Amino acid sequence: ITINFTENLKMITIVDDNFSQLNDFLHEKSFSKIFILVDENTHEYCLPTLLGNMQTDLGFEILEVEAGEEMKNIQTVNQLWEILTEMQADRKALMINLGGGVITDMGGFVASTYKRGISFINIPTTLLSMCDASIGGKTGIDLMNYKNMIGTFTFPEHIFVYPKFLETLPFKELRSGFAEMLKHGLIADKAHWESLTQIHKLDIDGVIPHIQTSMDIKQNVVEEDFHEKNIRKTLNFGHTIGHAIESLYLSQGNPILHGEAVAMGMISEAYLAYLEGLISEEDSTLIIENIQKYYPYLDISDFKDEDIFDLLLNDKKNVDSNINFSLLSGIGSCAFDHKCSKKNITASLKFYRELN
Ligand code: NAD
Ligand code: ZN
Repeated sequence: ITINFTENLKMITIVDDNFSQLNDFLHEKSFSKIFILVDENTHEYCLPTLLGNMQTDLGFEILEVEAGEEMKNIQTVNQLWEILTEMQADRKALMINLGGGVITDMGGFVASTYKRGISFINIPTTLLSMCDASIGGKTGIDLMNYKNMIGTFTFPEHIFVYPKFLETLPFKELRSGFAEMLKHGLIADKAHWESLTQIHKLDIDGVIPHIQTSMDIKQNVVEEDFHEKNIRKTLNFGHTIGHAIESLYLSQGNPILHGEAVAMGMISEAYLAYLEGLISEEDSTLIIENIQKYYPYLDISDFKDEDIFDLLLNDKKNVDSNINFSLLSGIGSCAFDHKCSKKNITASLKFYRELN
């Protein structure tokens, strides 16, 4: 049986200032009621714009959760399931996830499980969720200290992107999302990478013109390999070492933003790709210098190589005791399931440490 996901996946729209594409969508479908999930920040900064433009005869309710990754857990999900039940949400209800990746991941999970699944749409409000988290059909929550342990593969009915929501996003959050855009260029599209590296001042005017391309790259990769058997793995470039560093910071009670860890991961993995003979030293240097332009040095001196290795060995991507990497094979192309020698991984960490 061949399942064709194409129709499902062609569903991202950049909306105009009146949100007319969203209004058309709401008119065309026959939902019973709308539930809008926000966190405290998107309630304050994004919801007024949405409500000011949304035209529908349907009733709606606002569901608000506190902001932050700590809320992306089963307790919050349980509260949301209970509220939907108390408000008598039926199977024709629509959930609108208005927020960053925490809201789109968790809202998607709630919608995909409540009454065995109700419709939901994503309206991403961070750069990371616009270019990455809201696309690809992965929903989920964290369990204990493990990220995204519980979840479903369920597509939103549509993704509506309003780039001006970024106007209120703190700079560090914007820079965090930018790391995923750089990654998309590096793994799949040299021209995208080159235009991103020409942004001198990282701000919304610089990034907005490139959002569409970055979303398209993620969407195309997912479309080609929904089940992450091959090319979808390339999206993990920078994330093997990056995730380990992110976890170590978290375990110290000192969390850093995902994109900050990914930027560090991309630097040491670009050098690793050179050591493994996949790219030239010249390309490796060019990549590293361009990432360094945007990200301050991330101090990893508190972490021992052995602690990093322990985490690398636990990575979800490993199938046996080998450490599997997605590594660049050029600027704009990426290999996956590449097993690296411990010697080279150690050398790439040493290289990063010496950049300080
Ligand atoms: P987030 O949702 O926590 O948002 C970051 C911060 O920005 C929050 O404090 C939020 O309240 C605030 N915010 C959001 N929009 C704003 C706006 N327009 N103005 C002002 N403040 C705003 O985090 P994120 O970085 O968007 O997403 C991270 C999450 O995404 C993680 O949980 C990660 O696991 C997940 N993720 C999922 C996928 C996927 O494929 N499903 C991919 C990547 C990341
Ligand atoms: Zn990421």
